[in-house]
Amino acid sequence: MSKTIVDVLVIGGGVIGLTSAWFLAKKGLSVAVLDIGPLGMGASWAGAGIIPPGNASLAEAPNDKLRARGSFLHPGLHQELLDQTSIDNGYRVSGGLEVFPGESFPEPGRITGWTQEEIPFEIVDNFDQLDWPGLNLARLKKAVRFPTMAQVRNPRHLQALVKANAQKGVQLFPNTTISQWDSKGDRILKAHDKQGNSYHPGKVLFASGAWTRLADPSLLGLDPMIQPVRGQMAQFFCPESSVWPIIEAGKRYLVPRGDGVLLVGSTEEFVGFDTSVTPQGQQELIAFARDLIPALCNKEPQKSWAGLRPFADRGTPLIGPLPGRSNAYMNAGHFRWGFQFSPAAAEITCAQILGQPLAWIPLNSFDPANPPVKQVSQLFLS
Ligand SMILES: Cc1cc2nc3c(=O)[nH]c(=O)nc-3n(C[C@H](O)[C@H](O)[C@H](O)COP(=O)(O)OP(=O)(O)OC[C@H]3O[C@@H](n4cnc5c(N)ncnc54)[C@H](O)[C@@H]3O)c2cc1C
Repeated sequence: MSKTIVDVLVIGGGVIGLTSAWFLAKKGLSVAVLDIGPLGMGASWAGAGIIPPGNASLAEAPNDKLRARGSFLHPGLHQELLDQTSIDNGYRVSGGLEVFPGESFPEPGRITGWTQEEIPFEIVDNFDQLDWPGLNLARLKKAVRFPTMAQVRNPRHLQALVKANAQKGVQLFPNTTISQWDSKGDRILKAHDKQGNSYHPGKVLFASGAWTRLADPSLLGLDPMIQPVRGQMAQFFCPESSVWPIIEAGKRYLVPRGDGVLLVGSTEEFVGFDTSVTPQGQQELIAFARDLIPALCNKEPQKSWAGLRPFADRGTPLIGPLPGRSNAYMNAGHFRWGFQFSPAAAEITCAQILGQPLAWIPLNSFDPANPPVKQVSQLFLS
């Protein structure tokens, strides 16, 4: 039976927990990450890795600030992980095109938001000028092009984070279930796993994604009101797609990885903790893809999968100290945006744990006990 003594124990090894651990370890703290399953195989693995552009100094609403700061930090994180691990997470600025069926067009508030944030965009109403063979955009009337939209390959990014953390001395405990927590007054003292091992953290970070609400509310000091929302994906091999940008149409999108792999996403289903793919969900995705890409009409997906997005009722993630606890924090509830938010969210957690301010955002902006007064403006849908 082992006894692990660390500055910070992170509960949940998805992109949020692993990025937080990496930022904390770089600051010299001793860190352990514990996951009830394998590391990096939850929603973070299942996602599409779309990183919309942004400008944190001009973004206003809390979620927009996270998106914008995340977009700024991702290139540096990509390089840092590459240097540390030799794993290329696939970060690339592929550009993006948001398309609008029929006569619809983005709400004026979104156009104002992109302009105010100085996000490069271009309204497209002549599709002949776009040289993306294989994409059937002829029926569209208008689209918006975002030349600086980027993407990351999720499994590679997570592998890189796991390896980087391990190399930095972060202790990793996959497939480990905590069976008991011991507290005294407002402090969490230790945790015990089912094998009888104990963990003695200075501070605890709860980052368990869609499962965060399953923890004992008396331990967390609140009900985070986070629930799972299933997202199904399908993957095609489509060599023509290697030069295309990301294509978004409402909640559906195509994400070309640049080597012929093409992701098609995604559904949004409130079906509890069920990660099955369904014939209906897959048919909807395949029909969407075939409508834009005639060459897929005689192809079937190579594979399909689903993940559980952590949807927080309040519309923003919960990042901060837990009420009634002097040494416990939360970083969870990132819904459709956890990948793009992850470095910015980790930066906030790291500053809170170290008691240091951040220039780009007040540390209480995502207080778990107090939702932001100014609600989300979501300038990008995915
Ligand atoms: C289909 C799909 C497409 C998406 N596309 C995008 C996108 O393009 N861009 C974007 O920014 N975001 C996207 N997202 C959202 C993004 O993936 C999530 O917001 C993000 O992955 C959440 O990360 P997380 O670390 O909080 O959760 P997770 O990755 O789910 O990690 C939580 C971890 O906690 C562990 N855990 C659970 N309970 C316990 C416990 N009791 N003890 C210990 N560990 C526990 C789980 O095993 C899991 O490993 C997408 C999501 C899906 C499903």
